[in-house]
Amino acid sequence: MKVIELTQGQVALVDDEDFDGLSRWKWCIAKTQSTIYAKRRRKNSKKCYTILMHRDIMLPDAGMVIDHIDGNGLNNQRYNLRICSQSQNMRNINSRSGASKYKGVCRWGDSGRWKAEIRKNKHSLHLGVFNDELIAAQHYDEAAKILFREFALLNFPNKNNREAENGVRFTIARRLHGYDCCRHGHEYTKENTRYQKERYRVCRRCGQERTKEWKARQG
Ligand SMILES: [Zn+2]
Repeated sequence: MKVIELTQGQVALVDDEDFDGLSRWKWCIAKTQSTIYAKRRRKNSKKCYTILMHRDIMLPDAGMVIDHIDGNGLNNQRYNLRICSQSQNMRNINSRSGASKYKGVCRWGDSGRWKAEIRKNKHSLHLGVFNDELIAAQHYDEAAKILFREFALLNFPNKNNREAENGVRFTIARRLHGYDCCRHGHEYTKENTRYQKERYRVCRRCGQERTKEWKARQG
């Protein structure tokens, strides 16, 4: 990592490989409502342009924006930069105003616990309440992977949490799609359901039993 000095005592962080190219220019700060970026000016004979440092590094197509994953507009190391569409970027910004540093997580009242929640198409889906902020964030991640696929903005891009994945599959199947499903989110279709000892239903795909609903329906 290398440091590029800006105006007003601020610095930008960049990768070693980008330093030489960037340090040829004089950079200053660009303040917006929510964060500070690094910018430079480029003049040609007719016009004067502003070029933002993170765009100079990532060179996104027109209409695409750069998201700073950690929310710090001056951390321009490549691991912290992600190209996304405007609406994907807004999702990320909105979530930062909450009390957790993780996306999709906020405090659960005064309980000291953390709620994981995800929004899609104006619907918000409650993913559960957890003692551990990090686990809540992983639940958000697993849900985002399912709902947003390659466009998901994740708290931990390289981590998988199997238990969280099963949990959110169940939540998404039940609450979003209204499926009757096993704990892993497999739908209890005729083909996928095995009845056992009269009152038990077993998911053929994973062997998970779900007795409550079946009992309730029988009763
Ligand atoms: Zn199953």
